[in-house]
Amino acid sequence: MSKPPKDGSNKEHKDSDKSAIDNSAPDTKIVTAGRDPEWTGPVVNTPVWRASTHLYDNCADLADGVKRGGDEEFFYGRRGSPTQWSLAKAITEMESPETSGAYGTLLFPSGVAAINIALLSVLKPGDVLLMSDNSYDPSRGFANGLLKRMGIETRFFDPLIGSAIEELFCANTKAILMESPGSLTFEITDIPAICAVAKKHNIITLLDNTWATSYFYPALEKGIDISIIAATKYIVGHSDVMMGSLTTHEKYWLRLRKTARQLGQVVSPDDAYLAARGLRTMAARLKTHEQSALKIAHWLDKRDDVDKVLHPALPSCPGHKIWKRDYKGSSGLFSFIIKGDKKRAAHIIDNLNLYGIGFSWGGFESLALLVHPEQNRSATQWQEDGAVIRLQIGLEDCNDLIADLAQAMNKEMK
Ligand SMILES: *Cc1c(COP(=O)(O)O)cnc(C)c1O
Repeated sequence: MSKPPKDGSNKEHKDSDKSAIDNSAPDTKIVTAGRDPEWTGPVVNTPVWRASTHLYDNCADLADGVKRGGDEEFFYGRRGSPTQWSLAKAITEMESPETSGAYGTLLFPSGVAAINIALLSVLKPGDVLLMSDNSYDPSRGFANGLLKRMGIETRFFDPLIGSAIEELFCANTKAILMESPGSLTFEITDIPAICAVAKKHNIITLLDNTWATSYFYPALEKGIDISIIAATKYIVGHSDVMMGSLTTHEKYWLRLRKTARQLGQVVSPDDAYLAARGLRTMAARLKTHEQSALKIAHWLDKRDDVDKVLHPALPSCPGHKIWKRDYKGSSGLFSFIIKGDKKRAAHIIDNLNLYGIGFSWGGFESLALLVHPEQNRSATQWQEDGAVIRLQIGLEDCNDLIADLAQAMNKEMK
């Protein structure tokens, strides 16, 4: 393969590349982005550069490298190699830099690491963080654990609050973390409204955009400052790699990169290779996840034993109108509320044959999970009587998935 760049020339290269794909649609971008010929050489995918040590020609060459300390340039394994740079660049391109100002992407060994290091990068003792009440449980745990010990206070807010969030701002409010939709209860937040008032007060906005990804929701374009994705889910897509990413503007780039470097964050080239391979088919997979999940959600909605379907594309989901206004599509994860108690819900899940029982989602296979939203909120209260089942709809035949649900839901409890 051709020798990857060792000097600052890759920056120019990057810019010229960018203009070449400016106008392409997301489905084209997802195939072409980050496949820089200097990194791929004569093959299609950027190969795996498995290395800790990067060798220099001589001492002066090494000293130069230290001085530059740039991105996308060989230095030492912790700074990555073309395998990781190529994936990061592809994720940046997916955020439409030409219209959103997306500048760069950092990769982390998990989605949790990406969220928490983003928070650590922008907060300091004495600051107040606002966090959406439907946030992912480990995000709440970080707020109530390490952030609290550092003297950073977190106040939770109703995900449906919209621009009224302004009333919660105080002199020390520094950042807002949102998750839309929430990954258990699926409320859609009015992100443009919240970002607009946050900007007025110089408050940094962060979004956990794992459910939609930039494919269905280009977060930076909607006003978000730091867009975070648990790549473990749809980008990887095959339930075999843990990874997180964050994408941001030039304004926050150096601050975030510095914190990530200080904390020694690096993803393995093998994992980056698998994630990049997953990304190439993400559009095709998401469309199937979307169609099947919609069909199943509508089927559930018609059943007498279902109280409510919490799927952003259905009017029964809180924030549905905002989803309709802002999102380009819906993915394969949603919940429904079954009449009866958790025992009945567990009975249904245990009798499913095609749905695995386990955490995570975004892979090719279907999953079912009994969830407990009442345990994960403080600013709002969970009002529903029934038990909540979360489904990840995979790429199996949709009619088989419906038939499996039907037999499990129709089975009498002994
Ligand atoms: C899974 C998940 C994460 C965390 O990702 P990991 O890679 O598992 O650490 C963060 N946010 C949401 C919404 C998730 O579903």
